[in-house]
Amino acid sequence: MTSSSISHSLLNAAFTGRLAVVGIGPGAAELLAPVVREELALAQDIVGYTTYVEMAGPFRAEQRVLDSDNRCEMDRARLAFALAAQGRRVAVVSSGDPGIFAMAAAVMEALEQSHDANWHAVELVILPGISAAQVAAARVGAPLGHDFCVLSLSDNLKPWTQIARRLELAAQADLVIALYNPRSVARPQQFAQALDLLGLYRTTTTPVVLGQNVGRPAEVVRVTTLGEIVPEQIDMRTVVIIGSSQTRLFPRLTGGNWVYTPRWYPELSKA
Ligand code: SAH
Repeated sequence: MTSSSISHSLLNAAFTGRLAVVGIGPGAAELLAPVVREELALAQDIVGYTTYVEMAGPFRAEQRVLDSDNRCEMDRARLAFALAAQGRRVAVVSSGDPGIFAMAAAVMEALEQSHDANWHAVELVILPGISAAQVAAARVGAPLGHDFCVLSLSDNLKPWTQIARRLELAAQADLVIALYNPRSVARPQQFAQALDLLGLYRTTTTPVVLGQNVGRPAEVVRVTTLGEIVPEQIDMRTVVIIGSSQTRLFPRLTGGNWVYTPRWYPELSKA
């Protein structure tokens, strides 16, 4: 940045707006943080994918909703900066947590790529939300109670070879694995490949949690095992938690099973 552009940005600093990237949680209003609710109430412009904007609403008549269905994430991020740089107070809405496979990274990338001093002078905040895996885990006990990792199975933004490599290494490392974007109609065979890879390192009795539409009216949470997974029960609105070698199941009084991964790990000598 040249000294003239810096002084330009300082001059404008008082006039630039605010951009908040907010996580609305899985959908249920009670799982949305009060700080996000307040940010949404104060926002002049709300930007996001229609489904999530509808979950975040309703909004008042004077609030502009730019629910840009046909825009890619980067276009949406740039739109939000353009509005905020004009002095608007903007909220970009993400489901779950905005930093987990969602809009916060796109917003950061748009800012890094921008040479517009007004964009850099925007007051930028990221407000966290409860992520899908946390909700699914909470419904059944504590499957994420020890070390775990989060992987997206979508190969829209990374090659399948990279996904397969990470899955295999995570399985070898005996991490509990939360899978996002697990299985789409367009690529059912990749989920089958993922199961084959996991089967090389985990027994068929490994507990598996399928959380579909968690925190939404259509919520279905199933506890199954690696050997008994029914792929047809898994879609893009499902988060899948694959247990580690330590993850345990036991019956709950109300039917079904509790699932948890103990805090402790067996001694090497006992493993
Ligand atoms: N930022 C989101 C994740 C977005 S990626 C979060 O933190 O939750 C989209 C994937 O998230 C979906 O394919 C699905 O695997 C998972 N997901 C998001 N919301 C969900 C919900 N309510 N129920 C189950 N899975 C969900």
